[in-house]
Amino acid sequence: MRPMTRAEVRAAIVNLDPAQKKVHLPTWFDEVHWHRIDYLGWRDLRAPMRVYMVADVDGEAFGVMLRQNPNQAALGSRAVMCDLCRFTRRFNEVSLFTAQRPSKDKRQRLSKLGLHVCTDLDCSVNVHSKPIVGPLDPPAEETIERRRQGLRERTVTFLRSVSDLDRTARRSE
Ligand SMILES: [Zn+2]
Repeated sequence: MRPMTRAEVRAAIVNLDPAQKKVHLPTWFDEVHWHRIDYLGWRDLRAPMRVYMVADVDGEAFGVMLRQNPNQAALGSRAVMCDLCRFTRRFNEVSLFTAQRPSKDKRQRLSKLGLHVCTDLDCSVNVHSKPIVGPLDPPAEETIERRRQGLRERTVTFLRSVSDLDRTARRSE
């Protein structure tokens, strides 16, 4: 994704809690390899169950705050697939996160969207992992580019759906 400024990333979060005044950026913000990632994801060090995800949506920085669901017991020891990079990992390496929809309307505010994402928000490591290339497979770079394309598309779709209030309103009519 394109490099973003601190101010851009801070302003991108559309669903902050009304009580929350500031987005805490990661300490490693200056070391981000923007060309390697398809979304910027990090954990709030002051509130460890809170994570942020920011991506470029039609040229604009757009992001959401998510809460990690503490109840992982139901998953047992199954392998779980990340909804964004689509890699299947050990159950503790993928977590359920929920995003609150931003709204002034109280009823809408109760509405949440959940998805399973790599617990460390390290989807970019997965999509860059070297694929096993057989004689009939496309070159590794092609596979990696295809994975990244999918990751970008699914991230943008999710981010949009969090703030897509119009569609929700219509659906519930
Ligand atoms: Zn992932």
